[in-house]
Amino acid sequence: MNVAGMLKAKGRAVTTARPDEKIQDVALKLASKKIGAVVIVGDAGAVAGIVSERDIIRAVAEQGALVLTQTVGSIMTKSVITCTEATSIEEMMAVMTQGRFRHVPVVDHGALVGIISIGDVVKHHIAEVQMEVTAMRDYLATG
Ligand code: AMP
Repeated sequence: MNVAGMLKAKGRAVTTARPDEKIQDVALKLASKKIGAVVIVGDAGAVAGIVSERDIIRAVAEQGALVLTQTVGSIMTKSVITCTEATSIEEMMAVMTQGRFRHVPVVDHGALVGIISIGDVVKHHIAEVQMEVTAMRDYLATG
């Protein structure tokens, strides 16, 4: 299984925001869509950053609730690690574990084409392991 297969199952919709949107509006997007991160896109639609619930919590903890009226560009992570549709599920697990983040935007020739969360990775990994167990059991039963 690779990222293309995961996108086929979950779809390609990505919730995005512009760098000049207020943090409170981005928090509203996270809450209403029940997601953990929003990809920040620039004028040409290219990935400019990522903001997760952790960034918002950290900003509020450090600066107080007034920070919510500031722009999301001021707290976003600018050096975003992305993947392609060819990235394998094993590579995704390694990238998320090493980087200590739970979201990876999928990029194709500079265009944002999807997002993979740690939940997607775990779901497909469990399905793969279950298929292997079933195949092994069948093999042992018929061998
Ligand atoms: P998360 O675990 O996704 O909630 O994110 C934890 C931290 O990593 C936050 O500061 C995010 O802005 C940052 N982050 C999330 N995803 C990525 C990514 N793909 N590349 C770089 N930083 C990220």
